[in-house]
Amino acid sequence: MAGTLVIAELEGGKSRSTTFSAIAFAKQVGGSFAILAIGPGAANAAKDLAGFGAAKVIAVDDPAVKDYVVERFAPTVAKIVKDGGFDTVAVTASSFGKDLAPRLAAKLGAGYAPDINAVTVDGGKRLYRRPTYAGNALSWLEIATPIQIVSVRQTEFPAATASGGASPVETGAYAGPDAAASQVEFVKVEVGKSERPDLGEARVVVSGGRSLKEQFKQVLEPLADALGAAVGASRAACDAGYAAPELQVGQTGRTVAPQLYVAVGISGAIQHIAGMKGSKVIVAINKDPDAPIFQISDYGLVQDLFVAVPELVKELKAQS
Ligand SMILES: Cc1cc2nc3c(=O)[nH]c(=O)nc-3n(C[C@H](O)[C@H](O)[C@H](O)COP(=O)(O)OP(=O)(O)OC[C@H]3O[C@@H](n4cnc5c(N)ncnc54)[C@H](O)[C@@H]3O)c2cc1C
Repeated sequence: MAGTLVIAELEGGKSRSTTFSAIAFAKQVGGSFAILAIGPGAANAAKDLAGFGAAKVIAVDDPAVKDYVVERFAPTVAKIVKDGGFDTVAVTASSFGKDLAPRLAAKLGAGYAPDINAVTVDGGKRLYRRPTYAGNALSWLEIATPIQIVSVRQTEFPAATASGGASPVETGAYAGPDAAASQVEFVKVEVGKSERPDLGEARVVVSGGRSLKEQFKQVLEPLADALGAAVGASRAACDAGYAAPELQVGQTGRTVAPQLYVAVGISGAIQHIAGMKGSKVIVAINKDPDAPIFQISDYGLVQDLFVAVPELVKELKAQS
């Protein structure tokens, strides 16, 4: 069957919300689509995924795919794509999708459109739009190979919701590992526990820069609490160890597009802006009136953050 195969991202036997953005892409391009759930709890996740209008859901659960190792996942996904005659494979551009998609493209001899933020059909040609030069330019790509691999930005493809119905669920087989798998050992996954919303899904993000130093959490978290926000950080803050690496926003970190983005003591380097300029309202607090962040801000406050942020928290608390 020609059509799109969406690769679900699983966690604890359930689909992560990233999966629903890839489904939204499949629905937007139209035609038939199927969903592949691969990993522990795939059969369980497949039951939930059966409500999204897919032609079928394929579940692969095998001890060999208990832990995510691309050298073990990719051959199975590639075989399912070939056997099923799919012409498009869609993942969301999360760490999982960004890891799996290029290897899949290489195995299938397929063109790859990474990190797309729009798709359109122009005169029968499907075109993918993606940011280039750290988001300073947008390019349109056309893929010439029979199979196309696409990773979609979660922020630009709002999550599809279950539309009811019950797609048939098939069991798929594990196709064996790549030769390179013998060189790779899965050690462990460390998941940072947080009560806060996920960075990629939060309506409000409060991000801090290197200037917060060791007081990163102490200053930023009360503001994030008062706004019900996720916490983000610049790369300089992460590299210096003031913030956890998974909080990094930017070209080499997460891409976010919340309703409100508050940049505290962040200079506004292009690599940072590449990850947050899609935010609906941007507020910047910086003591340097010439900081580049002010050029893209809707509201700017030129003040020492160690004075401004506690005052803002006090005011927000007084109003709640
Ligand atoms: C290939 C590549 C990829 C990169 N990817 C990323 C990325 O994904 N994300 C990212 O963020 N960066 C990325 N960078 C790094 C980027 O170029 C910047 O170095 C980084 O974003 C700077 O972080 P910063 O704004 O926290 O620090 P700085 O540039 O040091 O800026 C600190 C800011 O805080 C202000 N400030 C200082 N003290 C106070 C105070 N008391 N009150 C108020 N304001 C104050 C200063 O005026 C300044 O504007 C990348 C760089 C490269 C080369």
